[in-house]
This record gives sequence, C-alpha cells and structure tokens, in this order.
Amino acid sequence: MKENLNYMKFNTKTIHGGQHHDPSTGAVMPPVYQTSTFVQTSPGVHSGYEYSRAANPTRTALENALASIENGTRGLAFSSGLAATDCVLKTLKPGDEVIAMDDLYGGTYRMFTRIYQDYEIKFHFVDMNDLEKFKSLFTENTKLVWVETPTNPLMKLADIEAIAKIAKEKKVLFAVDNTFATPYLQRPLDMGADIVMHSATKYLGGHSDVIAGALIVKDEALGEKLHFTQFATGATLGPQDSYLVLRGIKTLHLRMQRHCENGQKVAEYLNSHSLVDKVFYPGLDSHPFYNIAKKQMKGGFGGMVSFTFKSGKKEDAIKFLENLKVFTLAESLGGVESLANHPALMTHASIPEEKRKEIGISDDLVRLSVGVEDAEDLIADLEQALV
Ligand SMILES: *Cc1c(COP(=O)(O)O)cnc(C)c1O
Repeated sequence: MKENLNYMKFNTKTIHGGQHHDPSTGAVMPPVYQTSTFVQTSPGVHSGYEYSRAANPTRTALENALASIENGTRGLAFSSGLAATDCVLKTLKPGDEVIAMDDLYGGTYRMFTRIYQDYEIKFHFVDMNDLEKFKSLFTENTKLVWVETPTNPLMKLADIEAIAKIAKEKKVLFAVDNTFATPYLQRPLDMGADIVMHSATKYLGGHSDVIAGALIVKDEALGEKLHFTQFATGATLGPQDSYLVLRGIKTLHLRMQRHCENGQKVAEYLNSHSLVDKVFYPGLDSHPFYNIAKKQMKGGFGGMVSFTFKSGKKEDAIKFLENLKVFTLAESLGGVESLANHPALMTHASIPEEKRKEIGISDDLVRLSVGVEDAEDLIADLEQALV
C-alpha cells in the first residue's frame, strides 16, 4: 500500500493525493466497482462497504482525491453540481436566511429562488464587493453565505479572505463555488471558507463526458453532516462516473496550465479587436477585479472569457456564434475543446430578462470556454467569425 502523500505539492496530489493501489489486485487505477451491494460474512460484519448509496470504493477513491486537491479532510461526490449545492441547502430550516452573490450560475439562482424560497428560506443577493452592504444583511437567522468567484458569465470576483473573515465573526457557514478557478488556481478552504462546491462536470472532469458534482470541507463534523444528508436523500455519483472524474483530475494541472495560457491570449486578442467592446477576463489589467485576481488566483486566470460587441447588437453576437468553426456552440465549459455560448439565450435564459439587464448579462454578451487547442487556431477562428 502506498503511504499517504497528502503533504506533497499540488501537481503530485492531482495524481497521488488520497490514492492507493487496489488492495485486492494491486491495480494501479481503482477498478470501477459496478456493484450496488457488498457481502457480509455475518450480519453486520463486512469489509467497510455495505451498499453503494452509502459508499462505493470507486467513489471513495474520487472523494479522497477531491479532499486532497482542495486541502480538505472530506470530499463528497454527487450526481451533479446542482445536487451538491442542493445538499448544502437541505441542511437549512424554514426561516433561515442565505446571503448570496448577485451574479451566480443560472441553475444555482433558479434553485434558490424557485425551489428553496418556497420552503421559506430567505435569500439576499448582493454585490459582495460592497462589504458594508454585505455586512448589513446579516440577521440572527443568517445561516449561509454563498459565493461564486470568478462568476459565470461576467467574471466578477469576490475577495474570499475578506468574506471569510466576516462570515467567521458572524459564525455563519461560508461556501464557495470553485468551478471556474479549480484548486489549481485557488483553494478557498485555505482562505477561510467552510465548504467548497464544484460542478465536476466542468474542469475537474475536463472532457465533456460526465455530469458530476462535489463538496469538500475541512471540518470533520460538517463533512459527516453533509454525508448524512447525501446518504439520506440519495444524490450520489455512480462508480463509472466517479472513475471518469478521477481520471480527469489526474491531468487537471496540465490542462489548467494550457487553459490559462490560451485564455490570456484570447482575452488579449479580443481586447484589441475593433468590433469588440468589453472583455471580461480576470487576467487583463483593465479588469475591475484584477487586483483581487492577482491576490487570490495563483498561476493564471483560467480559461473563461466573455465579451460584448461595440454595436451592442444581439444579431452581431448570434452571427459571430454561427460563424465559428473550431469553437463549438454549446452550453457547458471546462472541457478540452473550446466552446462558445450566448448566456441570455442559453445558459442564463432562466434568469428573468429584467434581472439579467440589472446584473449586466446583455443580449450582445458572448461567453467562451477556451480549450487546450493551439492558441493560433483559436484566434484564427475568432478572426474569421468576427466580421
Ligand atoms: C455548471 C455549473 C454548475 C452546475 O453544475 P451541474 O454539474 O451542471 O449540475 C454550478 N456552478 C457553476 C459555476 C457551473 O458552471
């Protein structure tokens, strides 16, 4: 058995963190334990596994890897990113209040306002950079602070350390959706957050072939509570999908390095294009949150770039998206291939138009998930599509 290598550096951890060779065969990669149940030699006497909703060895291998790369003590793997978020929300009670960032993944916003509001949980949406306003929203019923940074699709940032300090003072749980940055760039638990959430569908999986989610925590009691909620309500990740995400994590550092390089090049190209108005990318020094980005994102600024057109016209955005040849017009992000998306008509259509306008998701906004192809080919594709 391999010793625990959790003290090692990040690139080593993506490959070895929390992992050991299969104890029965020595298989280097954990087998896909495609089983629902496990033998007991006498009632209640078993090898540690009873029923795969509670635990499955392939999922355990993934969960240990997740805990390792985010510097947590416990990882939990879910059937989707939203199932992971849902598990956190299920720990709340009617009357509880949540303070959330005002620019969130559309599905998160939809869950908060169209599911949990009906269970009498109150949500406050706020610009987290206005820390005074943020502080003023706490009441004795506040139980959770929910932040996404960078946000989808406007690449707004929130200062994780500053928010963690306030949440700690108020003794309120603080969760960070770390899907866009991944632990390669930022590790919220090290900055004082209590819970890290991922849509593992995106960069962790990395190959656009699986829907999965994750929660990672440092506090063991909180990990146990979340595991109980997951076990009691059932949104666990199957063994095959667990294997795919685990396999993805092993190249996370290599892919992220290239996503960052390509993202920076594409952002700089767009920033100098005559038809382009605003470019939203944390690695541009013109970005309003560049200073926070430099402080809390290490090693680059990711592969997500959004932009608008000088004309301000929706038709121009649509024409551009139809013209693309290398970028694929599709929802989702974080895979090896470059994708393009029209937030107002696609990923963020569930946000009411008025609300979209208020937060700045205009009809000429395009979001790119810059993949790991050759940057020259990606830029040539943008060049021929921007006419
Ligand atoms: C995709 C996404 C989610 C939801 O995850 P699913 O795996 O699609 O359920 C949540 N947050 C962010 C930032 C995302 O991009």
